[in-house]
Amino acid sequence: MGQIYTSRNEVNRAYNKVRMELWRLGVLWDGSKLDGVGCTYLTIAPSMTFTGTMGRYQEKEKTIEFPSMYLPIAALWRDLGVKANALDVIRHEFGHALADLYPGALKKGGLFRAAFGGAYGEDPAEECVAAGWGTRYVSEYATSATQEDFAETFMLFVKHKGKIPAKFAKRSVIRKKWKAVAEIVKRVAAAKR
Ligand SMILES: [Zn+2]
Repeated sequence: MGQIYTSRNEVNRAYNKVRMELWRLGVLWDGSKLDGVGCTYLTIAPSMTFTGTMGRYQEKEKTIEFPSMYLPIAALWRDLGVKANALDVIRHEFGHALADLYPGALKKGGLFRAAFGGAYGEDPAEECVAAGWGTRYVSEYATSATQEDFAETFMLFVKHKGKIPAKFAKRSVIRKKWKAVAEIVKRVAAAKR
């Protein structure tokens, strides 16, 4: 299993592109909370074995950390196509940032819980999710925690400009999550007014 290297340029380009996508969705504007979310490039020495995640949102610093070098812990997540490129990693991490900065937009009316099966956090929604996850989750990584389920769904929502791909539209559970993300995005956009 080789290491994955991402250049500073590639990370910067991806960060700026995702910011533009979020601006188009109405959740990022001049001086807004998401506008304040930065991106920190971590230079990992080749001698170091970095087995963290490809990206991580740091709540305290309000920044997305992105390591230059990344060694997948297991073939697992990568083979499943999760977090395969800088754009998707940054979209995913902005999902965590949005949840951190606008907790009320998730909680109001029990919206998040109803769609994701629990409060936003580190616990998975179900005890046993391995079988048939494809009908209820957008990726296998999404099954690991409700917060990852949200971030993975948000990643795709941003990538597809809010329009649900046909393969997911057929799945009622995923459709419900998608609609919840759409409503959360709408609530955050409304904060501008
Ligand atoms: Zn995550």
